[in-house]
Amino acid sequence: MDDNTPLRINDAEFFPGMSGTLQLPVGALPSGTKINVNAKVFRAEEPGPTVLFLAGIHGDEINGIEIVRRCIAENVFDRLIAGTVIAIPLLNVYGFINFSRDVPDGKDVNRAFPGSAGGSLASRIAQTLTKSVIPYLDFGIDFHTGGRGTYNYPQLRYTPDDKEAYEIGKAFGPPLLIASKPPVRSLRRSAYAAEVPILTYEGGENQRYDGLSIQLGTEGIKRLLVHHGMLPQSEAPRPAGPIRQVERSKWQRAGRAGLFRWYKPSGHYVNKGEPIGVICDPRGILTDKRVKAIRSGYIIGHANSAVVSQGDALFHIGE
Ligand SMILES: [Zn+2]
Repeated sequence: MDDNTPLRINDAEFFPGMSGTLQLPVGALPSGTKINVNAKVFRAEEPGPTVLFLAGIHGDEINGIEIVRRCIAENVFDRLIAGTVIAIPLLNVYGFINFSRDVPDGKDVNRAFPGSAGGSLASRIAQTLTKSVIPYLDFGIDFHTGGRGTYNYPQLRYTPDDKEAYEIGKAFGPPLLIASKPPVRSLRRSAYAAEVPILTYEGGENQRYDGLSIQLGTEGIKRLLVHHGMLPQSEAPRPAGPIRQVERSKWQRAGRAGLFRWYKPSGHYVNKGEPIGVICDPRGILTDKRVKAIRSGYIIGHANSAVVSQGDALFHIGE
């Protein structure tokens, strides 16, 4: 944007130095209650990048919502010295109130991009973001967690070959920086096609606070803004720890059903053949089956479910 051009989103205009809350209408409940997505816009006097911090595209992924909410509550974005932050702590209000990743039509907003105005609810929400927000962005971070019973070690995923996204990932400073193809019709893929680098942050599991994921997420946001000259150096958190780069990863699955316990959780390095968990027979008939690592690498995600079926994902190991 030019120095004095207003940022226009729907009917709202933000000139340099202006901040405020936008309500983006996405639909209504059967009760008639209107559903809006609240987007907060923080624009500094000085020009600089326009950055999106988005969470809750999956309504039950609480850690991401908490990361963005906490940065707003701690007035981090009020202290911007350059550029613009668009913060959307909770995109999928429907999923949030129903403890679900999806919207009430059973669809996943992050598989509905770029979306359409006449489509399903998921498609309409996706379209609101595609039309009203993405065109203004220089880059963004989309915050997620693992699914039910699956823990993801704090990590950033970027689209392979997207050099700009890779640099943004390094500036954020997560413990794991993972090259992974974005899912079809996801926000990350749709934004990549529009040449806007968006990275996916994953940390913890759904419906559950994870202190480490929240702390590393908020620190990463501050580190990224300091790196781009949007926050003063005095706002920099502690330096990032070592960033492990993962090029390939694979899920290791349960060889049989039973009661599962891990020996080594996410974040640890394991050697091929090393025992990392055990599956026991709840009837007490079969002997315990040890789960041995099928490859060497970092455990980037693991199952926390006690009861597993044959073929369930147990460990996500990255090389
Ligand atoms: Zn998610």
